[in-house]
Amino acid sequence: MPEINTEFLFTIALEIQVSKLGDTPYGSRRIFHFDAGSFEGPKLKGRVLPGGGGSSLIRRDDVLEVDVRLILETDDKLMTSVPGLFAAGDVRNTDLRQIVMACADGARAATYASEFMREIARNR
Ligand SMILES: Cc1cc2nc3c(=O)[nH]c(=O)nc-3n(C[C@H](O)[C@H](O)[C@H](O)COP(=O)(O)OP(=O)(O)OC[C@H]3O[C@@H](n4cnc5c(N)ncnc54)[C@H](O)[C@@H]3O)c2cc1C
Repeated sequence: MPEINTEFLFTIALEIQVSKLGDTPYGSRRIFHFDAGSFEGPKLKGRVLPGGGGSSLIRRDDVLEVDVRLILETDDKLMTSVPGLFAAGDVRNTDLRQIVMACADGARAATYASEFMREIARNR
């Protein structure tokens, strides 16, 4: 059998609502909805948007079947995992450490930090 090559993408934390449907002729079924969450890995991070969900079935032979759909929004707005803390320049995990990149990052980080503060003010 050919080997399956896998690569670690990210760790995900989800806020889940679960409804147990109980026993069915095929096994025990649950339905779930994802309200929010976040994910972070070596090359990818972002948040989970509301609207995803899925179902699971513990079959009568104890095999777990899972069917999940998530809506992920990747973060290219330079915000770190600390909300409101933005990173620019050489401290970022970037493939090109040069002055032009650091300047561009600085301009973008300032813009997104300002958006972030406006959003906080709007939700007060
Ligand atoms: C030898 C060398 C040659 C290079 N040549 C080029 C080149 O020719 N062209 C090019 O485009 N890029 C070049 N680079 C890369 C370029 O210098 C960096 O990509 C760029 O300076 C990154 O900017 P930055 O603002 O992210 O970090 P930095 O320029 O390193 O600025 C970080 C600043 O934070 C300060 N700081 C650190 N810790 C603290 C703290 N705790 N509190 C307060 N301040 C702190 C530091 O003193 C520093 O002033 C070179 C780099 C090196 C090392």
